[in-house]
Amino acid sequence: MAMALKDKVVLITGGNSGIGEAVTRRFIQEGAKVSIIGRSIETLKKMKAEFGEEILINQGDVSKYEDNERAVQATVEQFGKLDVFVANAGVFDGFAKFADVTPDALSDAYDFLIDINVKGSFFGAKAALEELQKSNGNIIFTVSGASFYPDGGGVWYTASKHAQIGLMRQLAFELAPNIRVNAVAPGGTLTALSVIPPLRPFVKIVDNETKANSIKKRNPLQLAQLPEDHVAAYVLLASDAARAITGEVISSDGGLSVRGL
Ligand code: NAD
Repeated sequence: MAMALKDKVVLITGGNSGIGEAVTRRFIQEGAKVSIIGRSIETLKKMKAEFGEEILINQGDVSKYEDNERAVQATVEQFGKLDVFVANAGVFDGFAKFADVTPDALSDAYDFLIDINVKGSFFGAKAALEELQKSNGNIIFTVSGASFYPDGGGVWYTASKHAQIGLMRQLAFELAPNIRVNAVAPGGTLTALSVIPPLRPFVKIVDNETKANSIKKRNPLQLAQLPEDHVAAYVLLASDAARAITGEVISSDGGLSVRGL
């Protein structure tokens, strides 16, 4: 079968773990060169050791504009262009309850989480823009069931994931006809998605089995989803086969929309 992303150059934030790592692996199989931004040098180096020339690793923080800009420049220096930007890096609030959290912790949590989930998405898209204009490329945001329904997280996470939808829709409108902008909304997935430090005193960290059971119970297909379950949606949106699709969200969530969370 033909490779869907042959000769495409892709930049993925958080491509060193969880959903971003699964997307990175699949995109490379589909013929893309992939550049990833991550925080942990150990996992970045692991990906480099595995994929060699097919991958470029960039250590950085998506909430800092210059780190996004540096990664875009390095990607273009190494691979000659940029076709697809995937804003995937994110952090979680652990379902912390608004009523329990002190005003100081609320404020710290707001800055910490919104800086990464929302400002990181703005910054990545802005840093990639000029190169995507040259390539008539596309942007994909990793959003969530929490972009549409309550109880996919607490207020910080839910508000951040709703905000990404607004960013995606407005960019799809403003950047047409050159650049397509879409999103994938995974449902609950077994990853190491981390709870931000300011909210850790207010949440119960659950073990993987409890998490798997609660994810299964919520979605009609009764899937404890794995990162690999979502990659097909990213391949479709990134590829030229989706040339008529923009401003759209593909939910990959075991059917949450049939019932809500
Ligand atoms: P993950 O923790 O495995 O992946 C997130 C990645 O983002 C990690 O590599 C992390 O180090 C990186 N990251 C976090 N902050 C960063 C920063 N400031 N700069 C650079 N990198 C940073 O978790 P995941 O579940 O694969 O999360 C990926 C995306 O999927 C997130 O946007 C998350 O909100 C979304 N999502 C996850 C679930 C789920 O249940 N796991 C469900 C829906 C959506």
